Amino acid sequence: MTQKVRSLKVFGCGFPMPVHRIWTIRITRPQRRQLYRIRHRATPLEGVALLFGIYEDANTAVRVVRIDEMENVAQSKATFAIDPEEQFRIISEAENQGLVQVGIYHSHPAPPKPSGWDLEYMAYNPVVWIIDGVSIIARRMKAYQLIEGKLHSVRIQTV
Ligand SMILES: [Zn+2]
Repeated sequence: MTQKVRSLKVFGCGFPMPVHRIWTIRITRPQRRQLYRIRHRATPLEGVALLFGIYEDANTAVRVVRIDEMENVAQSKATFAIDPEEQFRIISEAENQGLVQVGIYHSHPAPPKPSGWDLEYMAYNPVVWIIDGVSIIARRMKAYQLIEGKLHSVRIQTV
């Protein structure tokens, strides 16, 4: 039995939802390349995408099925914003395919750690946040989930 889990809208007002602690987010190699292209196109601004998919392993893991690149309407190197109407349209389209929003992706020109702004919005969007950043020499993706004020690491599994 698949439980329908809705994520909160990034900039909308929230509504109560069951929040599952997610330990693993599964993405394919082509999806990793897709995220790389999104990052590359957006540079030097932050790139952003919504991740849709399904819950697995008794709601402790998510599998990404669809990635939608979004325009960073903030046009910023330090943060991102999504047009709420566009977001609503994409979410409805994915839901019609039987998918739910399982994550949010964005890139950083800095290490892949949530910024203060990220943490603020993660509190309202307890999906998996993939942050694509850079360490001293290389690109590095990390995933997190913030539940009740506690930041958890989520494993990114390439499948
Ligand atoms: Zn960020």
